[in-house]
Amino acid sequence: MKYKPYTLNNYKDLPPISRLSESQIRDIEVVTNVFPFRTNNYIVDNLIDWDNFSDDPVFLLNFPQREMLSEEHYEEIADLLNRADVTKERIVETSNRIRMQLNPHPAGQMEYNTPTLDGARLKGIQHKYKETVLFFPSQGQLCNAFCTFCFRWPQFVGINELKIASNETAPLIEYLRRNKEVTDLLITGGDPLTMTANRLEGYIEPVLKAGLDHVINIRIGTKVLAHWPYRFLTDNDSGQLLHLFRKIVRSGKQLAFMAHFNHPVELTTNEVKEAISKVRETGAQIRAQAPLLRRINDDFEIWVRMLKEQVRLGIVPYYMFVVRDTGAQRFFGIPLVRAWEIFREMYMRLPGLARTIRGPSMSTTYGKIHVLGVSEIGDRKLLSLQMIQARNPEWVMRPFFAEYNEDALWLEGLKPAFGVEKFFFEQNQ
Ligand SMILES: *Cc1c(COP(=O)(O)O)cnc(C)c1O
Repeated sequence: MKYKPYTLNNYKDLPPISRLSESQIRDIEVVTNVFPFRTNNYIVDNLIDWDNFSDDPVFLLNFPQREMLSEEHYEEIADLLNRADVTKERIVETSNRIRMQLNPHPAGQMEYNTPTLDGARLKGIQHKYKETVLFFPSQGQLCNAFCTFCFRWPQFVGINELKIASNETAPLIEYLRRNKEVTDLLITGGDPLTMTANRLEGYIEPVLKAGLDHVINIRIGTKVLAHWPYRFLTDNDSGQLLHLFRKIVRSGKQLAFMAHFNHPVELTTNEVKEAISKVRETGAQIRAQAPLLRRINDDFEIWVRMLKEQVRLGIVPYYMFVVRDTGAQRFFGIPLVRAWEIFREMYMRLPGLARTIRGPSMSTTYGKIHVLGVSEIGDRKLLSLQMIQARNPEWVMRPFFAEYNEDALWLEGLKPAFGVEKFFFEQNQ
């Protein structure tokens, strides 16, 4: 199958687009000035129900919607586009100003997570949790389709200061060699599997050759199974890619696919099932994670269906995330209390093999905060939380409490319980 991307330049060629109203087309053209827009022929032909597209989860995951921007930001861009005398520069300037107001690098990832080697900051590498190093290969900073909720949206909007990327492996290997506590190398993006097998091999082969016995897991963060399963079936270098996976497994390291599925419909096609089976045959393990998203999967039954299907296909459920405080959080966000209720309703119905999922988990500046749930102590309701991962390992697995708050979407909306001024990890910064 030949990959055909659809972006602002050509999406109107899609026959089903004739079903969109003028205002829906207008919304796409306005919102795309801030958020990236890209989908493809596999998604459009197989995953979207065009008879009910306005509420279709995959349509909302791929096509920008008006409410993804605040009314004020929307109007500002819409007004500019209406003016005959406006320059391209003026529009870009306005778009970039709005982007900077949407918290483009949440969780302090630029300030805190960039490691150094002999005093020099390492490009395209992030190291937040002791055991896991993230590597962003330059040519993998693209996706086969852009998710409208993506917290890495600044990687795709063409502002170079916002981009995290590297095309060198030597500094990465040297950094790994000197940091023996690192067990996991997570290659991420964008989507590293948008690279050719040759390129990916160019990054991974030197890591394997370097030995690095303490690095036991190579992880690849990818949405390609959901967005372009032909990557493992009919692409020119599918065979070479699968061969590379076998080579990693044979080297004695685990190859873990950090896959991403947002909705059970993404697991229904013959192509995705075939692709999953091809990947598993190489000895790679597939784990799956996704955020809980309003209007997409904010119903426990959707998650139960999705996770049961994952387990049937041999995929290990891993994380349910809370929508991050960036980009279109206003559109997708679910309050933490509600997120916990959905998680609980889901979890009680899952087979044991699917209960490997953890969450809802919030990726904050401090670490991954697990919303354990609402505790009733005497006549008080409290929100109980604990860290699964933390910038400081000492913070992990220490339950703590916040005042009950039904509306809070993120840590910033929570207050420590019992009149305490700060959460314990805020004091020990
Ligand atoms: C989630 C995450 C990881 C991986 O954490 P695991 O719990 O090991 O999957 C690593 N680095 C960052 C910055 C993360 O957000």
